Amino acid sequence: MHKKQILVVEDNEFNREMLKEILSDEYDVLEAENGKIGLEVLSQNKESIQLILLDVMMPVMGGFAFLDEMRKDEELSLIPVIVTTQGDGEESEIASLEHGAIDFVPKPYRAQVLKHRVASIIKLRETAAMVNQFKYDALTGLYTKEYFYRTIRQCLDDNPEKDYTILCCNIENFKLYNDTYGREDGDQLLVEVAELLRKSVGEGAICCRYNADRFLCFLDSEMERLGRKLFLKAREENHSALVKNLSVKLGVYEVVDKSIPVEQMCDRAIWVVDTIRGIYNQHLAVYDDTLRNKILREQAITDAMEEALEKEQFTVYFQPKFRLQDGKMVGAEALVRWIHPDWGFMSPGEFIPLFEKNGFISHLDEYVWEHTCAKLAEWKEKGYSLIPISVNVSRVDVYYAKLVKTFCDLIDKYKIDPKYLHLEITESAYTENPDQIIKTVDELRELGFVIEMDDFGSGYSSLNMFSQMSIDILKIDMAFIRSELSKPEERSILSDIINMAHRMELKVVAEGVETDDQKNRLQTMVCDYAQGYLYAKPMPADEFEGWMNQAK
Ligand code: C2E
Ligand code: CA
Ligand code: CA
Repeated sequence: MHKKQILVVEDNEFNREMLKEILSDEYDVLEAENGKIGLEVLSQNKESIQLILLDVMMPVMGGFAFLDEMRKDEELSLIPVIVTTQGDGEESEIASLEHGAIDFVPKPYRAQVLKHRVASIIKLRETAAMVNQFKYDALTGLYTKEYFYRTIRQCLDDNPEKDYTILCCNIENFKLYNDTYGREDGDQLLVEVAELLRKSVGEGAICCRYNADRFLCFLDSEMERLGRKLFLKAREENHSALVKNLSVKLGVYEVVDKSIPVEQMCDRAIWVVDTIRGIYNQHLAVYDDTLRNKILREQAITDAMEEALEKEQFTVYFQPKFRLQDGKMVGAEALVRWIHPDWGFMSPGEFIPLFEKNGFISHLDEYVWEHTCAKLAEWKEKGYSLIPISVNVSRVDVYYAKLVKTFCDLIDKYKIDPKYLHLEITESAYTENPDQIIKTVDELRELGFVIEMDDFGSGYSSLNMFSQMSIDILKIDMAFIRSELSKPEERSILSDIINMAHRMELKVVAEGVETDDQKNRLQTMVCDYAQGYLYAKPMPADEFEGWMNQAK
């Protein structure tokens, strides 16, 4: 173990030797012969020096001037200083304390007394540092979550008549920022945001760092309204420092019921800020009953999902895909629907994200895959000329070890050629876990399944990733199609994307085609396939059979 470091600032060489002899068994003793040199040694070792023994009378720079310089630096001022005084110098003892020394020892030195004093002062400082460690977040200097909870509980109990608000501030895409610019810049950004927050909410607020990129503030409701305005304004003005893509979101919870646990109050502020994640241009959300109802609704869905699967409340709809050139139906996508006995028809937009969060999606997906394979078998039996059906494979499914086997078992059971089963895997799954997905997808392609990358353009993947990824079809996200096709031709990158995909021998599907104008433009871009309301909406299996009949 390293010895603790002590700095002796003393012009008399004999005294320095004495101190060294007394202390060097237990400490690593650094020496300086006047205040000026002392400051130099100190600045080079400020993290390791635990204590300073200081003489008052020295040439070049004396003890008091040394103390005054030290106090100017926030970090240095935390290092304890013991002044060594001559005999009965009461005046210089008082002056030492006034200049910020913590204690004094008289000369000549008494070895045992000196050792004890040094040891106990170092210990005291370590204990204080430990208390601070629990109280303050090391990076931002805000309070820790634990200290925050305790303090606001106290504040609520002491001021039952006052109205308070809890603010949660979240930096959107912080992880991405960290990955892109490195940890140091990430840390710097957190410090800046913490500082901005502290300044905006004012002295009276209690702020803490809740976790990585989330901060909480507890403050008087009146002040809060002003504070949040100031903060959002300051954030905009500070754009140069906070990189372009970065957005800061605020969640507000007004404390109505002071009797509920503080943790729960904070959860609500955090919860509300999470509801606006990813929503462009919305920086503020206030917790209220609508939101509470949303939570309750989510809870109800979670409670109902297992029974729904057992009782076959889920059905599969099919939405045809068409070849753009001649309008021929060339495939379809299987999309799940939930028809609940009390709630009626539910769109997957409401329950799929929830199922992805709670893991139930893998059960539902297996059900949809099986149902789709059963339909393929049935249509083959009925003599339709088959077209490939795509099923959605959630990003959660990709982590499932038996994914490949599940699909193999299905095609065996229903005796279908795997080329009729297309698998749509969302783009974000590729960016989240590239190694795993490449491995799984390679296996599936080898077995004859066709892979479509879904929602391309909604996430972060780039075209140059394709060279390493094995896919067959690129499915371009509906929102991306819409925004690209609303731009003047020369500003749209869509046509370049299609060309590049073709060069890599990928086919391209455009999703969500709703107008003739969109269709025409896609045709000029030589996009291969289209799917959308312009052609057909998702429909139940028997209706879809009608379409297959016509296509015969
Ligand atoms: P997705 O895979 O991107 O599916 C396309 C969505 O766009 C479908 O919504 C479809 O009905 C809708 N759509 C198609 N054409 C148009 C159009 O022209 N205009 C508009 N406005 N919408 C159009 P749906 O069926 O509500 O599904 C939403 C999402 O839920 C799907 O997005 C998919 O991510 C997920 N999903 C649906 N069924 C399943 C499933 O069985 N398993 C999994 N894992 N996810 C599913
Ligand atoms: Ca899809
Ligand atoms: Ca899609």
